[in-house]
Amino acid sequence: MKRLILFLLPVLLLTGCDILDLIYNEASYIPPREVGLGQARAELPELDSLYCYFAAQNYTVWDFNDWLQADVNNLPERLILLRYDIHYEDMREAYSAYTLQCAHLGPCTGTWFVMLDNPYETVEDDYAPMRRSYLSFIEFAGARGEDVQPHISPCDMYLHDRHPVWERMSRSDLQVIFDENYQIRRYPDGVDFDVIGEDVLDLADINARLPELLVEYNGSWTRQTGLDVVGYAAHGSPVAMQRVMWGERLLDQRCLLQLGIYAYDSYNTAIFSHLEYLHDTYFAAWMKDPTLIEPGQYELLIHPNQWHLLHTP
Ligand SMILES: [Zn+2]
Repeated sequence: MKRLILFLLPVLLLTGCDILDLIYNEASYIPPREVGLGQARAELPELDSLYCYFAAQNYTVWDFNDWLQADVNNLPERLILLRYDIHYEDMREAYSAYTLQCAHLGPCTGTWFVMLDNPYETVEDDYAPMRRSYLSFIEFAGARGEDVQPHISPCDMYLHDRHPVWERMSRSDLQVIFDENYQIRRYPDGVDFDVIGEDVLDLADINARLPELLVEYNGSWTRQTGLDVVGYAAHGSPVAMQRVMWGERLLDQRCLLQLGIYAYDSYNTAIFSHLEYLHDTYFAAWMKDPTLIEPGQYELLIHPNQWHLLHTP
């Protein structure tokens, strides 16, 4: 009986709303937490090993502010430009990742790109606790002097605002239209989208409206966080527009970069013409064996939750 009561007690203590949360797996608030080194190691052991390895191999590790101030033609031989993309699901482990970064690489050695106010999240019924979670992390990292910037999806922003007729087209149909009518021209400082047929996807409107949306977003970010926007990391949204036009490519357009609304997107030609890309999106083998990483100059993308999943049986 005692065991039964102990088993039921948490259920009895839950309000009806909490029970619904459990059933529908709704988002709940993830409060900030100070994670000790021992606990961070236990939570994300492979990330601990990776950062240890970089430190032992004498890598220089930079955030994006360091990058902006650097002489890109005279980079350290072993360099990590460290980037975190923080979605709601990364929120809990972000605090452990911060502890590991500080312990092995030092404070202020990575930029935290946080997905505050993605238009498709803000319309969810349970967005309020997600927003609180994002803002708590931004406040936590910002108060410690970390570089915190937005993780945005230009495609989501545009679609949600404009709802063009081709919004729900399949990726393959959209790709055919794109290939017939547009051509991407590459330059050392970015790309141009050239219209070679008809502007069926209304690129002219995208490039007129997107800067306005970005200015609005930056204002909202600063009002909520007290932090200035310097640059972005584009989010890989699952929408067809993203798979065809690519938000990061839109942000790499020279006509947008020239407007001065953002200094960079993390995928810009100006960065990737100097660095190789290491990312944890597909559970690469080096995540469990950092010695597989050839010495070099990299932008490294960390999603803290991937390292939790990697470690969780
Ligand atoms: Zn993302």
